[in-house]
Amino acid sequence: MVEMRKPIRIAEAVKRVMNEVVSIGTEVIDLEDAYGRVLAEPIIAKHDVPPFDRSPYDGFAIRAIDSAGATGDSRIAFNVVGEIGAGFVGERPIGEKEAYRIMTGAQMPDNADAVVMLEQTVETATGFTLRKPFEPGENISYQGEDCKKGEQLIEAGTLIHPGTIALLATFGYAQVKVARRPIAGILSTGTELLDVSDALVPGKIRNSNGPMIRAQLDRMGIAYRSYGMAADELDHCTTVVKKALEETDFLITTGGVSVGDYDYLPAIYERLGAKVLFNKVAMRPGSVTTVAILNGKLLFGLSGNPSACFTGFELFTRPAILQMMGDTTPYMPRMAATLGEDFTKPNPFTRFIRATWEFTPNGVVAVPAGFNKSNAVSSIARGNCLIVLPSGTRGYEAGDVVDILLLGSEQGVREWTL
Ligand code: AMP
Ligand code: MG
Repeated sequence: MVEMRKPIRIAEAVKRVMNEVVSIGTEVIDLEDAYGRVLAEPIIAKHDVPPFDRSPYDGFAIRAIDSAGATGDSRIAFNVVGEIGAGFVGERPIGEKEAYRIMTGAQMPDNADAVVMLEQTVETATGFTLRKPFEPGENISYQGEDCKKGEQLIEAGTLIHPGTIALLATFGYAQVKVARRPIAGILSTGTELLDVSDALVPGKIRNSNGPMIRAQLDRMGIAYRSYGMAADELDHCTTVVKKALEETDFLITTGGVSVGDYDYLPAIYERLGAKVLFNKVAMRPGSVTTVAILNGKLLFGLSGNPSACFTGFELFTRPAILQMMGDTTPYMPRMAATLGEDFTKPNPFTRFIRATWEFTPNGVVAVPAGFNKSNAVSSIARGNCLIVLPSGTRGYEAGDVVDILLLGSEQGVREWTL
C-alpha cells in the first residue's frame, strides 16, 4: 500500500527545520579571510571616527572670527603660515588673520575653526583674501561625527561584506571573531545517474543535482565533502549516509525521498533512528522534500527532480546553514512584482516558479523562466528569483501582483513571511 503523507505548510516546514538548528561555534580568523563570514561579535567603535577634527576640502584653515564682515567690496586678507598635507599636523596654533593651507583629510591646526575652500579665495603674495564671513565650525569634519567611541555599530550575526571589512579595518581588527563554517556532505542517489563526463546510454541521465548543490554551497562559501553517486540500494546507501553524517555537519541527499519502489531514504532514516521533521510540504515543486535529524545533524532529503532540488535547497537548507552560523538574516528577501505573463494552472499547493525580475517603466515585473515543471532543468538555468503563487483554485494572469523571493542576494531578511 502506498504510504499516505500529510502535507504541512511551508512556513511550518521552515520553522521545524530552523527550530532544530544549533550553532556551530566560533573561530578567530585574519581580516583578509573574513569576506562572506558571519560576525560572531558586534563591532564596537574602538575610537572616534574621524579620530580628530579634519578638513573635508583642500583649502585654508582659519579662525572664523577673523572673517567677520568680509564682503566682495571689502575683502579680508589672511597670511598663510604653513601647509598641512593629509597625514601631517600643524606646528603651531594660528593667530589673528593667520591661516594654514590645508588638504583634505588633514588634522585641523589649533585655534582654527573653519575651512575656506581654495575656490573661495584669491591668492596674494603672502596668503589670500576672501569675500564672505565664515561661521565657526563651517567646513569641518568633526571628530566622532561618523562613529563615537564605544558605540555598537554592527551586531553579531551580520554577514561580513566589503563595507563591513572597511569598518573592521578602520578599528584595527587585524583578526576577527566569526562563526565557524559547517561542512556539508552531498550524496546523489539514483541508479540512473551518470557522471558529468560519461556518455549517455539508454535509460540513464547525467547527475546534475550534485554539481548544482555544490555550486549552491559555493555561492555561500560553504565547504563540502562529496560522496558522489550511489545506486538505489538500501544497504549501500545506508552505509554511505551513516559515514557521511560522521564526517560532516549536515548531509544533503538528492533523490529517493518519494514513495517509489526504489526510494530508500525513508527506510534509511528509520534504520539509523533519525527523526523525520516532515516528509511532505504543501509546495510545488518539491512536495516530497524531507528533512530529518540525527544526533543534532540535519539530513536534507531533497527531491531528485532538478527544479525541486534547487528550490528545496534555497528554501530549507540555505537558511539552516546561515542560522548554524548565527546569521540573523537567513531568509531570502521578498518583494512584490507584477506578473509579466499568465500562469493559468491552478495550484493545489503553493507554487515556486523560477523567474526573472526586472525594473520596467511599469515597476518591478517578474516573468517565468520557461518550462517550469518540477523535473525542469532548463528554467533553473535562467532567472534571478522565485515567483510565489499561493495555493488556490484560480490561475494567475499577467498584471496580477505577486510575491517574489530574490535568489543569490548577499544579505537576507530576518523573518520568513510567506
Ligand atoms: P527521485 O527523487 O529519486 O524520485 O527522482 C525524481 C526524478 O529526478 C527522476 O526523474 C530522476 O531520474 C531525477 N533525478 C534524480 N536524481 C537526479 C540527479 N542527481 N540529477 C538529475 N536528475 C535526477
Ligand atoms: Mg530516484
